[in-house]
Amino acid sequence: MTGRVVVDRELCKGCGLCVSFCPREVLELASEVNSKGYRIARSRHPENCTGCAICALVCPDIAIMVWQSKDSKEAM
Ligand code: SF4
Ligand code: SF4
Repeated sequence: MTGRVVVDRELCKGCGLCVSFCPREVLELASEVNSKGYRIARSRHPENCTGCAICALVCPDIAIMVWQSKDSKEAM
């Protein structure tokens, strides 16, 4: 399985939960901030994403969308 995640930068508050819970260490907090001044989560190693959606489940602000595919070409 391969996956792809998209973080809504304006919903993200930089709490880091998704970074901590991702089992594949895909995510990181960027130095870049959103309009509220929060550091935003982003994919550091998108190639490792399985689309398990744990990050989306733990995000308290529902800021993450996940796509999962059996075919890596479809996921990208
Ligand atoms: S979908 Fe799973 S593997 Fe991909 S970034 Fe989220 S927690 Fe990590
Ligand atoms: S869990 Fe949600 S709010 Fe927290 S850093 Fe990740 S995307 Fe942002």
